Amino acid sequence: MESDFALAVDIGGSKMAVGIIDTRGEPLAEPVVYPLPFGTDQAADPEALLRLLEPQVEQARRIPGVLHGIGLSVCGLIDEESGEAVLVPNLHWRYVPFGRMVRDRFGLAIYPSTDVRMAVLGEVVWGAAREARHFAWVTIGTGFGAYLYLDGKLYGGKHGFAGNIGHNTIDEVDGYPCGCGRKGCLETYVAGPAIARAGQAALETGTSPALQRLAVDGKVTTGMVFQAEAMGDPAAAEIIDRAIGMAVIGLAGLVNTLDLELIVLGGGVAHGCPDFPERVDRQIRRYLMSAEAGQDLQIKGESLPNSALFGAAADVFVRRGLVRLE
Ligand SMILES: [Zn+2]
Repeated sequence: MESDFALAVDIGGSKMAVGIIDTRGEPLAEPVVYPLPFGTDQAADPEALLRLLEPQVEQARRIPGVLHGIGLSVCGLIDEESGEAVLVPNLHWRYVPFGRMVRDRFGLAIYPSTDVRMAVLGEVVWGAAREARHFAWVTIGTGFGAYLYLDGKLYGGKHGFAGNIGHNTIDEVDGYPCGCGRKGCLETYVAGPAIARAGQAALETGTSPALQRLAVDGKVTTGMVFQAEAMGDPAAAEIIDRAIGMAVIGLAGLVNTLDLELIVLGGGVAHGCPDFPERVDRQIRRYLMSAEAGQDLQIKGESLPNSALFGAAADVFVRRGLVRLE
């Protein structure tokens, strides 16, 4: 059977996922994940990414049906028309014309956007948010941020930056420095680096026997803290509880402000333990202003294997009028 499909690309901080997905949200080939081949302190070479995409584009061209274009999900700020990567911190990209390079190389239409917006589209079109009209996609990983879907529409705000809850200030006097250049942002209490930092402190003060065993060369990672908690380590459990508690305060603020019906949680930290969404769900209600909000609010985990990747395909279909949002 011939189908309508798109090539979906999701460029994250350390890896790039590529999939061929049709208008029903079915992958036509097993999605492939490439670690991005460069160090952490110099700008990533866009040519290297194009070379990784080449075999995927060739494979998509061999599938019978119509290849409608390339959906480009990028972890950063990207111009949705030109595909110019305005700022992609993890790749050290500033004003890299990546979208044009992809279009010129493969001669296909491109549909670029930031990964959180793509993730919202994936969940709305094929995932957990299909019935929702007021919801937030929230990612808790290296950072802490949200993207909003309000009144049945994507909501980006004036500059497309709406939903940056992680950079609301909690303590600008004694807080930790944040990646945004300021101090004491909510993200510095919630995201992966905060958990690793607290785990490191527990190791150094000798309060966590499990982290003592897990640490490699005296270093604790976020994943190790989750692992220590799963091993029954009380210090690790307290660290994770504290991070979830701070995330909950931020999320409750979002629900009190916007009267949301659903929050979908994704990102590496939210995937750190299987009961993460339930733990948020249990704690959030006591911060909500109305009983109605408490009754109707649902907290779910990401429902697609990679919402941003599926969303990159959904964006192609929505912008070409093949799939309608409502
Ligand atoms: Zn910040």
